[in-house]
Amino acid sequence: MLVHLAELDSEQHDQGPFTAHAKAVVERSDELLGDLLKVLPKDYDLALVSDHGFEQIDHIANLKVMAAADSMTGTLNIAGGLVTTADANAAAWLRVQSGKGDVGREIPHDELVRYAPALSDAVAAFEPAPHVMFGSAASGQAHSATSEKGNHGFWPMRPDYHSIFLLSGPGVKPGKLGTIEMLSIEGRLEAAMGITCPRA
Ligand SMILES: [Zn+2]
Repeated sequence: MLVHLAELDSEQHDQGPFTAHAKAVVERSDELLGDLLKVLPKDYDLALVSDHGFEQIDHIANLKVMAAADSMTGTLNIAGGLVTTADANAAAWLRVQSGKGDVGREIPHDELVRYAPALSDAVAAFEPAPHVMFGSAASGQAHSATSEKGNHGFWPMRPDYHSIFLLSGPGVKPGKLGTIEMLSIEGRLEAAMGITCPRA
């Protein structure tokens, strides 16, 4: 049985993560998990997972507007939590921006292709600075307000962005895993359930 406790995601989009309201929803979700545990048959396992963490967003940085103001014409491929380019001029421009408040860490190429093999053509990739999301607007203001105070869709190494994994039940050996990769959860659940998932 799969149960999706969806309210925390909605609340964190509205008001951001780590707020009093978000923490209240965490506590309510915890109560609901307690209700589930009370009625869970004794031979069932419980797996607690999340598909992402959350980031507070203070503003949107429209990189194409900023690039145009600097007369930089190389192509930027913009997702909310990542910008990549296959253009040497654009890569150089991004390196100058990094650390100035909108563009954050450059993702090393080996790390990029490890988590996003489809982006292997990129010559440079950057995350946004903390509490910033990239926007794809090509005209208007360089910085725009965000309608949501929190969001997801970021590179997985961000410190605020870690998620959770808990597995409990008969046959599960107690122990602490430390930090694990989300991509390993599929295999962990397969092992717990004694099944093999079909893979593309
Ligand atoms: Zn969401």
